[in-house]
Amino acid sequence: MSRTEVSESLFERARGLVPGGVNSPVRAFGAVGGTPRFMESGDGAFLVDVDGNRYVDLVCSWGPMILGHRHPAVVEAITSALSRGTSFGTATAGEVELAGEIVSRVGPVERVRLVSSGTEATMSAVRLARGVTGRSRVVKFAGCYHGHVDALLAAAGSGVVTFALPDSPGVTGASAADTIVLPYNSAEAVAEAFATHGDQIACVITEACPANMGVVPPRPGFNALLRELCTTHGALLIMDEVLTGFRVSAAGWYGLEPVEADLMTFGKVMGGGLPAAAFGGRADVMSHLAPEGPVYQAGTLSGNPLAVAAGLATLRACTPDVYTRVDAAASVVGQAATEALSAAGVPHRLQTAGNLFSVFFTDTPVTDFATAQTQNPAAYRAFFHSMLDQGVYLPPSAYEAWFLSAAHTEEALSQVTDALPAAAKAAAAALS
Ligand code: PLP
Repeated sequence: MSRTEVSESLFERARGLVPGGVNSPVRAFGAVGGTPRFMESGDGAFLVDVDGNRYVDLVCSWGPMILGHRHPAVVEAITSALSRGTSFGTATAGEVELAGEIVSRVGPVERVRLVSSGTEATMSAVRLARGVTGRSRVVKFAGCYHGHVDALLAAAGSGVVTFALPDSPGVTGASAADTIVLPYNSAEAVAEAFATHGDQIACVITEACPANMGVVPPRPGFNALLRELCTTHGALLIMDEVLTGFRVSAAGWYGLEPVEADLMTFGKVMGGGLPAAAFGGRADVMSHLAPEGPVYQAGTLSGNPLAVAAGLATLRACTPDVYTRVDAAASVVGQAATEALSAAGVPHRLQTAGNLFSVFFTDTPVTDFATAQTQNPAAYRAFFHSMLDQGVYLPPSAYEAWFLSAAHTEEALSQVTDALPAAAKAAAAALS
């Protein structure tokens, strides 16, 4: 068992100062129990907590750290930007460079606007889609997460095509009422929604490949169907690549499945571990944005010089070799996890999509949010804590992807694969 005294006392103090003791809910370990670890430093594939425990990091800050922690090129870029000042509230050359890097990688993106979080990116993309089409309704899929935008924090009502209900107190019925929530991967549900409400739908927003209910790849042809229905009915297609963008390939999910969206959203990797995100798309659509057009959007820290420097350095360091290494590391860990769980007789599904993967503690194939919820949370909890005790930091929730980086060396990977058999046995014990 690792020592946790310092994390424990910090958590206790934090709970008196910050709701739940954390600044983003999943960090509180609510789904797995136990003391959340307060991290002090990161280096390559490793994190060190305030009690001095060292972990192989399989969260990678929920995606951004594709090069690992403290990559020399990123540290150097931030240090150099820092020496020139932290924020000017003006245009800077770096923003133009970063926009150019994004546009050159992702075909459908002709113009791009920088923001500071993925939530801001999706919120702004939806506003733009509504402004461009003059329509109000938004189609989203159950289990897809697009940040904590009111209209997108909506849960499915009963029936296949229903107007959504607020998914959180504080989201008004009115904010949720224009959202239509459909089961993921259901061509029938999407077709029915368009048949019934096609002339009112401003946009469909979808994760290009969902990874926020665990990894649930789109069925072959599903994204293409969304494209076709949007085109037929005059709605815009928004592909949310905040998580997949620049992670699964240099062009994100678009690089693996080139379905052309009208608008796309990015975050995580493109900020290199600092707060930067973006939305972009066709020039004629983006031209509706202020100051060129009437749809308002702005940000004091948008295009922040440090975040831009970190993002640029990260994207530029993401060579083909980096993707080869991330793919290989993901494959090693995914395969080893499924082998260990099979050997221990734990029902599970390894679901992969490029270098994204997650392990569902169920034997039901997972194609949507309803099937994702057939998981056994107790098995994951036991598995998670065994891995943590053995120095492997997994996502503290069964509904998340596991993230690898190009810095996951053989040493780091062996530590993970060596830990898996005992964790699988702990999961098996939790089931019996
Ligand atoms: N969209 C997707 C697909 C995400 O995975 C996330 C965050 O995990 C967001 C949007 C929201 O991004 P942020 O947490 O930067 O607001």
